Amino acid sequence: MTFEPVIGLEIHAHLLTASKIFCGCATAYGAEPNTQVCPVCLGMPGSLPVLNRAAVDDAIRASLALGCTVHETSIFARKNYFYPDLPKGYQISQYELPLATGGLFEDVRITRVHLEEDAGKSLHEGFLDSARKTYVDFNRTGVPLIEIVTEPDLRSGAAAADFFTRLREVLVWLGVNDGNMEEGSLRCDANVSIRPAGGQTLGTKAEVKNLNSFRFLQKALEHEIERQIELVSAGGRVVQETRLWDAAAGRTVSMRSKEEAHDYRYFPDPDLPAVVVDAARVAGIRAAMPELPDARRRRFAAQYALPDYDAQQLTQSRAAADYFEAAVAAGAPAKAASNWIMGELARKLKEQATDIAAAPLSADRLAGLLVLIDKGTISGSMAKNVFETMYASGRTAAAIVEAEGLAQIDDEAQIAALIGEVVSANADAVAQYRAGKASTFGFLVGQVMKAARGKANPKRVNELLQKALGSG
Ligand SMILES: [Zn+2]
Repeated sequence: MTFEPVIGLEIHAHLLTASKIFCGCATAYGAEPNTQVCPVCLGMPGSLPVLNRAAVDDAIRASLALGCTVHETSIFARKNYFYPDLPKGYQISQYELPLATGGLFEDVRITRVHLEEDAGKSLHEGFLDSARKTYVDFNRTGVPLIEIVTEPDLRSGAAAADFFTRLREVLVWLGVNDGNMEEGSLRCDANVSIRPAGGQTLGTKAEVKNLNSFRFLQKALEHEIERQIELVSAGGRVVQETRLWDAAAGRTVSMRSKEEAHDYRYFPDPDLPAVVVDAARVAGIRAAMPELPDARRRRFAAQYALPDYDAQQLTQSRAAADYFEAAVAAGAPAKAASNWIMGELARKLKEQATDIAAAPLSADRLAGLLVLIDKGTISGSMAKNVFETMYASGRTAAAIVEAEGLAQIDDEAQIAALIGEVVSANADAVAQYRAGKASTFGFLVGQVMKAARGKANPKRVNELLQKALGSG
């Protein structure tokens, strides 16, 4: 019997607000433990949560990008469980009435997008023995999150990793999440089951947690699918449980079974009113949404006649796409701008470990250089040196070309005069050329370039020399 895997994802994404979801504490990552806390996020008796409007806006933005319907009314609920990093004894989340539902993204149906607060973080030191210590850092407690839940529409580990990659791209593009999986601001859990190929019913699923990279997601799913197929083929059955990906061992291991699963006893949070988002607010956010990566990619290919590869590369980030369009707006030919951004500029940025958003060379300045090449004022090879000087000094290309006397000689009379000198000084070579020795032409071009100290426009020299020798 052949089996098909059935995979759904649950993705947690931190929202990039300056303060937490229900209090004014900062959300910056990496602060000294327990320095970004207050009575509200520590769950002190008598403290009351107040919803951060910016977090709701970010969540709406993400929901719209995923094609979801944003509901006018959603409700915060308490999800009760005991854990040392959860000081209130419950997490504020949304349960029965989430913010948004019913989306579609990359051919995967989005079940829901809801808002919630993050829990704190336990830091373990030492092994599981008497010497083991656990510390708790509450800085993360109350950082706003959205949870994105998909329908079980994915059919392989590679497809799941690809979907997660696309989703990350959009969240980062929208500026609602920083995409940093290592720091835990974007996390993914996967529900996996198998069923006979082509079947309709769902098998018993296992949940795989702690998948903090695209590669781990793919490998963990591939391993888990294999494990379930072997188990069922041998006459066993899959039990509903939570499993962890052990990256070092390259396999998933059981964490807790259904019997040990939490009973969260959800109920509406009595301290928080319903979240009401009227149609005007949603419309305003929708109108201000940036063009999304896929749309911008297609537009770049069409509007600027760029190859798909270029359009793909230039839309890796909003900053790169903006840079390209600013260069074109400043007069740079589109394909040249694309080549230089992907080539020289990318190399320089990589060398200095800088992002294009912080590039010391503005798009305007780069355009200035590309215009000079386009007009024939400088050659492509000279332009590379000018680029280096521009990048280091911040001066304009025109100023550098002027100060260093780099402008090409493109004037017909001036080049014709140089050719005249070369022709009379090399009578032998000219005679050979006229007698049919074509290779002599290159030598004569070289002599003209030498006389011009390398600055003559080579294309013009070729044209005029052919004319002078009577073959043009
Ligand atoms: Zn706080």
